[in-house]
Amino acid sequence: MEYKKNDTVIVTIEDIGSDGEGIGKVDGFTLFVKDAVIGDTVEAKIMKAKKNYAYARLEKVITPSPFRVEPKCAYHRQCGGCQIQALSYEKQLEFKANKVRNHLLRIGGFEQELLDKVMEPIVGMEEPYHYRNKAQYPVGVGKDGRIVTGFYAGRTHSIIANTECYLGVPGNKAILELILDYMKRNGVTAYNEETGEGCVRHVLIRTGFTSGEIMVCLVINGRDRKRCKAGEYLPVQEKLLEELAQITGMTSVSVSINTEKTNVIMGKEIHTLWGEETISDVIHVRDMSREGYPLTGQELCFKISPLSFYQVNPVQTEKLYSLALEYAGLTGEETVWDLYCGIGTISLFLADKAKQVYGVEIVPQAIEDAKENAKRNGITNAQFFVGKAEEVLPQKYEKEGIYADVIVVDPPRKGCDEACLNTMLKMHPERIVYVSCDSATMARDVKILCDGGYELKKVRPVDQFGHTVHVETSVLLAKTNVREV
Ligand code: SAH
Repeated sequence: MEYKKNDTVIVTIEDIGSDGEGIGKVDGFTLFVKDAVIGDTVEAKIMKAKKNYAYARLEKVITPSPFRVEPKCAYHRQCGGCQIQALSYEKQLEFKANKVRNHLLRIGGFEQELLDKVMEPIVGMEEPYHYRNKAQYPVGVGKDGRIVTGFYAGRTHSIIANTECYLGVPGNKAILELILDYMKRNGVTAYNEETGEGCVRHVLIRTGFTSGEIMVCLVINGRDRKRCKAGEYLPVQEKLLEELAQITGMTSVSVSINTEKTNVIMGKEIHTLWGEETISDVIHVRDMSREGYPLTGQELCFKISPLSFYQVNPVQTEKLYSLALEYAGLTGEETVWDLYCGIGTISLFLADKAKQVYGVEIVPQAIEDAKENAKRNGITNAQFFVGKAEEVLPQKYEKEGIYADVIVVDPPRKGCDEACLNTMLKMHPERIVYVSCDSATMARDVKILCDGGYELKKVRPVDQFGHTVHVETSVLLAKTNVREV
């Protein structure tokens, strides 16, 4: 039987696709139904049909799945932020663990039996809502002409009003409403993407979970500045600052000037208007081998500025980094490389237990932050280099003879460059710890490393992003017999 656009079908969802979509079959014809949950029987309307498969829109849930739950957010289908909020959290974790396993099986080519042995249970969240420490809300004009903040609908750039994202901190809502109210009362305009006119583009709110410190940064189109008094970036600025200062925990208020017609949110120019330039946060080291992952007593303090990269889920980040540290198996004698080190968070975790740590990162500002963070925490055995991992590592190894007992990598989604993997093999460290935010590229890279003489020892997924389809993984590889390269 053939299906075409606008046909309505009844389908039972039997699987979850890698983007969280429900997958079901009717007469051997595969349907991908966004927002349908595994176990549901649904009525779906075909939007786009191919020969053997089609994408369909969920019209009605006929028999709900036992794994279906009531999502907290009324906008979970319209907003692109969450993909699987209607799936129970337990089932989300199972889906993520399976995703990692399947990538290692299909892309990595590892055997079932080996995976049964090396895969450790996924580390879930105790509270899968309100975990994000950073929120970026676009500001614009809604359909009715009023200033709104919310999220972009689907793949468009029209804003749907919503000040309450359940992944963020509950206090964000009051801050956003205060800013909207101030804008309306004082005639402060919202930026219009099409004309490039108007003032406020985005509101960034960051919260230090351990410190309770809050940072607000308004991203403004500086072209409007001439209308304000000297020293004011926004009309009636004092009034806004006074009101924001009333909020418990408020520590830093700034503006970021972005006059470009671009999707990039932050402008490079930042001016602190009130309070500190940064907020602080502490990351604790945990013992991941024990029940409940107790604290070890070791901790690190970080200062975060509006432009700093910082992990968005601080609670799970502690667990992910602690796992990387455990896998590194340090005794205090090792030379360790931390590739793709960002602001040096993992490097500084490792430094306490290593002889020497070298970090490599492509963004110069991040390396500045890494050095600053090392100093702040009294760490003297960590050194940082700016550059591409695939260029810095061969250079340091071949020209300067620096070696490694352990190499930790935490690359972006596209994974490691092959030149980087080859140098890692040449350096033959005892252990390699691969921290990954994309299990498909991780499986590809781990296969290359295992073909080069390493053995897959441990794999543990960590859920950093509840209700989304993303999953982080920590992988341990150990040297067996290194081939000559
Ligand atoms: N380990 C850090 C950052 C991980 S994100 C943390 O947990 O905070 C990945 C980092 O890799 C980013 O900071 C990105 O800027 C950096 N990066 C991307 N491509 C790179 C390359 N070719 N060489 C080195 N660093 C790179």
